[in-house]
Amino acid sequence: MGKTGIKSGTNIGGRSIPGNRPMLLARWGRLGYGKLRRFVLVHFNRRYVQSQLLQRKGKCSQCGYCCRLIFPCTMLTRGGLCRVYSGRRWLVCKIFPIDDRDLDDVKSAGGRCEYYWD
Ligand code: SF4
Repeated sequence: MGKTGIKSGTNIGGRSIPGNRPMLLARWGRLGYGKLRRFVLVHFNRRYVQSQLLQRKGKCSQCGYCCRLIFPCTMLTRGGLCRVYSGRRWLVCKIFPIDDRDLDDVKSAGGRCEYYWD
């Protein structure tokens, strides 16, 4: 049990907390960087984003992993559905994933995005 009183392997919000805290922090750091990176790309490098989207293959299986990177989005219902899917979703949500690094983020969270690039 760690200082937080959370036992290693405890499941919180559908996530297993690994015993190795530095690993957990490294993963959160990586996923946080991914969120920031996508935000910057979507708003400041539209040319790159457009070219990536044109080459992107596959389709969304609506698994919802991209809605739970680091923390579950506050717009998710208890059933895991997006409350604003057909309304005012963030641009980063609409266009996810931008490139392979985003697929790696989903993979590191235990999921598998159905989009891909050759
Ligand atoms: S991770 Fe990929 S397949 Fe899953 S909901 Fe997000 S975009 Fe769709």
